Amino acid sequence: MRSDLSLGGSATQPQVTERISLIADLDDDDADDRPDGEGAFVSPAARVDLVTLDARFTGATLSPTRGREHARLVANGKLFGWGERLPPGVQLQGLSPGRTVLVARWPNGRETGISVDVHGVTMRDGQRRPVDMASQRASLQRTPPARVDLDDVDQVIDDPDVLRVVLRSPEGTPLGPITVESVSAEGAPLDTTADLRLLRTSCGPEASSELACVATAPLRFVVDDVDRRHPLIAARSIKAEVGGAIVVRDAKGKKLQAIRVAGPRRTEAGPIGRYRLAIRPIVMRLSPGGAPSVGGTDAGAIAALRQELAVASGIWGQCGISFGPLSQMDVKVVNPPPPYLVALGDDVGLPASGGEVRLRVEGKPLSFSTKKGWSTRQAALELARVAEKAGLKAAISENARISSGAAPSVDVALRRADGQLATAELVSSSDPTMSVSVGAVDLSDGLQHFGDTDSVAGTIEERTLVKSVDDGDPRTIEVIVVPFFGGGGRIGESFIGSDGSSMRNVVIIDRAGVRARRTSLTLAHELGHVILDEPGHPDDYGIDTPTLLMDSDASDGSPFGPRRLTVDDCVRAVRQSGPGSRIPLLTEWKLSPLKYPTR
Ligand SMILES: [Zn+2]
Repeated sequence: MRSDLSLGGSATQPQVTERISLIADLDDDDADDRPDGEGAFVSPAARVDLVTLDARFTGATLSPTRGREHARLVANGKLFGWGERLPPGVQLQGLSPGRTVLVARWPNGRETGISVDVHGVTMRDGQRRPVDMASQRASLQRTPPARVDLDDVDQVIDDPDVLRVVLRSPEGTPLGPITVESVSAEGAPLDTTADLRLLRTSCGPEASSELACVATAPLRFVVDDVDRRHPLIAARSIKAEVGGAIVVRDAKGKKLQAIRVAGPRRTEAGPIGRYRLAIRPIVMRLSPGGAPSVGGTDAGAIAALRQELAVASGIWGQCGISFGPLSQMDVKVVNPPPPYLVALGDDVGLPASGGEVRLRVEGKPLSFSTKKGWSTRQAALELARVAEKAGLKAAISENARISSGAAPSVDVALRRADGQLATAELVSSSDPTMSVSVGAVDLSDGLQHFGDTDSVAGTIEERTLVKSVDDGDPRTIEVIVVPFFGGGGRIGESFIGSDGSSMRNVVIIDRAGVRARRTSLTLAHELGHVILDEPGHPDDYGIDTPTLLMDSDASDGSPFGPRRLTVDDCVRAVRQSGPGSRIPLLTEWKLSPLKYPTR
């Protein structure tokens, strides 16, 4: 014990014989958007940072002789007055850094002094602004590694995501070494730092002179090992995820304070919290009943796609976007569809000249006549009419007009009465202008992908594939894995909302796209086109930034590779796909309390 412990040990006040260490409880452990040390009731989830007085104090009273503003008493979550007889289990809660001196008095007349040291455990951003542990969030790193002067704790750093931990302690009573732990959105430990070096820093102009302050290096909260392990930043990086938390612990592993992880703190549209993106992941089999496109077995395919989704979800965490708990994500392994899709005007969408179209559906003849001047849509309606008359189900979907097309092509999906996709075959068509074709998926030669002219509509093979698995809910994104694309080169593609296509919010990747994840983050990139509703790439406009996720041609497995999202990307994502958009892909996902692991 130090000699300055005799605080208030004057003739009228008893000697200080005990010391209690508290943390100013300004984080938000019950996720009610209010610091735990504010308000008249402390909910059970928010009591984790309180110190329970031991049984010796039952029946005694506690009265502050100085610094009463730094701490308060709480009994069963309710405020408890100073000077009243203490029932069992009363707790002390820190409110602000500083020293409170208490006198404990027992009914038998015994008195003693207690020094309560309340420590501040807070954060400061790269611009040296304080970050509120309750109302603000830690954000994931959107800047490539850069060197900082680790000896200059007051250096201003041009990085919107780094945070320093700042400790404020009553002079002479430092908290000692700290570590920082990262906790997942499910409350599981994700990563932890070694003891962090603490350097003396200014406590700020308004702080009382009895405080001494130290701060850590600017910490980076990163999405994966690529960013965690780079030698330039390894000592100050820790893996984190949206919905989780950054927990500051003392040398014994006790939680001091925590801050939750969500989207960027500062954007032109205000802070971005947490959003959830609904994804329907689907792995195609090579043939009906055959092997899946990736992973060898069904279990392997599910694991491979979940892993790829975890990587993409982590990357989009830079914008506060999460795909939800991936272990619960239902990955479907499905057969390629039979030839069930009849496309009218698949080439250039010319109107009909009149003729007869003869099909064979489920082994039975089905024919209809076109009339001169009919649009593709009129012909599709006629096909649907005769199909329904024959006991089938028909669903019409119009495709986006391709650049050279006179009119949009129209697809008719045929199903049996039991809802299963029908098998159709074109026998003949005598209409000389309107083309009629039946789409078939044959993955053995790769999926025929769109070129420049038909990109908005997709090829008939792509449409046959996608429309066979579409759930009809435009607010979900279908992610479909195929073995490979025909023609070579491409490993992923996306169909986005603004194309006006009947196929929207769909991403197709091949197994090379799954395997290449560490270098090109294919799925995260293709999802970016959908989330941002943006077909282009920043480098299309002459700004080549190879560290950006949406760069078109970068391939680099280092932290300097294409993996970063800008704050403008995040604002655009919320504007184009957020709750206020025309087809909201992102739903707001409020943070719920985490139960921090104890050590
Ligand atoms: Zn792209």
